[in-house]
Amino acid sequence: MSDVTILLLAAIALGCGCLGLLAVAVTNPRLLGMGWLGGAFAAGATGALLLMSGQHVAPLLSVLFADVLVLLALVLLHAAVQELIELPAFEPFAAGLFFIQGVSDLCRIRGMESARVGIVVAALLIALQAGRTAWVLGRRAKPGILAPAGFTAGLLVLFMVFNLWRSQAVWLGWVESSARFAQLEKLTFVMFLGFALAIAFGFFWMTTARLTASLDELASTDPLTRLFNRRVFLRWCDRELARARQGGSAFSLLMVDLDHFKSVNDQHGHAAGDSVLVAVVEKLQDSVRGIDVLGRWGGEEFVVLLPGASAEAAFLVAQRIRGNIERTQVPVAARRGDGVETLRVTASVGIAAFQGREDGIEAMLKRADAALYRAKAEGRNRVWSDAPMLPELVPAGLS
Ligand code: GH3
Ligand code: MG
Ligand code: MG
Repeated sequence: MSDVTILLLAAIALGCGCLGLLAVAVTNPRLLGMGWLGGAFAAGATGALLLMSGQHVAPLLSVLFADVLVLLALVLLHAAVQELIELPAFEPFAAGLFFIQGVSDLCRIRGMESARVGIVVAALLIALQAGRTAWVLGRRAKPGILAPAGFTAGLLVLFMVFNLWRSQAVWLGWVESSARFAQLEKLTFVMFLGFALAIAFGFFWMTTARLTASLDELASTDPLTRLFNRRVFLRWCDRELARARQGGSAFSLLMVDLDHFKSVNDQHGHAAGDSVLVAVVEKLQDSVRGIDVLGRWGGEEFVVLLPGASAEAAFLVAQRIRGNIERTQVPVAARRGDGVETLRVTASVGIAAFQGREDGIEAMLKRADAALYRAKAEGRNRVWSDAPMLPELVPAGLS
């Protein structure tokens, strides 16, 4: 296949890809990075068209512009990746690359730089940008997109290695003869097109993985507090129950209910109530270990799964939670005037500890609820357990 045919095919493939990506970007603005990727394809397609026409018209200028366009395509791909992983699209790094490419092109036009040096500089800059994008993907991709991010980063590393090899081949004179040089050029066009399509595939894979991860999150968490909803929390409980029944360590459940929360809404409004709920959840998160699981059971009621926690350990955690909530001051808009006032709330906690193989989650939740009811009845802002507590664990005046 002649160079012109390859370049024409590349221009058609990249041009169609660009139109498709821009259509996706316009109709689906929530799919991040598509517009930048469309721009990268447009730059690639223009580069291929330039090289194709330049072979007959102005070879030097077309080569120089094509170098800039390929670099632009990689910078736009980097912007697409940055947007997809929710980082700022551009950084000064890209400007530095264009500056070096521009200086190299100027030297070449003025005859101060040979074609060989020009190719080496362009290939090295492309390798640098590809490596940088691979690095960002490797370091910053979120857990939901690790597999496609790894795939795309792997492709970019291969592309980087190809360009490093290409720069070495030209620099060390491995392609001195014009026939070998033509072969290298052909290989370069084919590789650029192949990598562009494969990387676009990787990008689509990342986009769908990100979408699936955010749908999963939507379906499993409560939108206000971002805690697990009942369904997902119960799934964690079932897992822990199975482990405990198979001889694993015991575990406990806590039910935390804010005291007189209705009056917060009544006196300060629903928005203030929401701020209090968010602040309380922060305190809950600060009060438990990484392996503990938090859920929103309903309105102002939260549940905590404490793997490996005995009744005594659960009591200490519950007291810590109760104390941390009691000490929390939540700033909300003042009822009168423009200022800010602080609200304080308290919570009551009911505990149920695993009682052996015959025990189940439903039974434990019933006991935690009964204990919570007892904590409320005893005056609120206190902890009550379904197990008789060791006296020294019970702070004076409580339970
Ligand atoms: P108790 O000490 O007995 O638990 O009294 P309480 O007022 O906390 O209990 P009650 O069940 O009577 O009221 C719960 C209130 O929680 C009523 C409801 O308006 C409020 N609530 C439930 N979900 C939300 C929410 O998402 N945001 C806000 N702001 N309020 C909520
Ligand atoms: Mg309540
Ligand atoms: Mg309640």
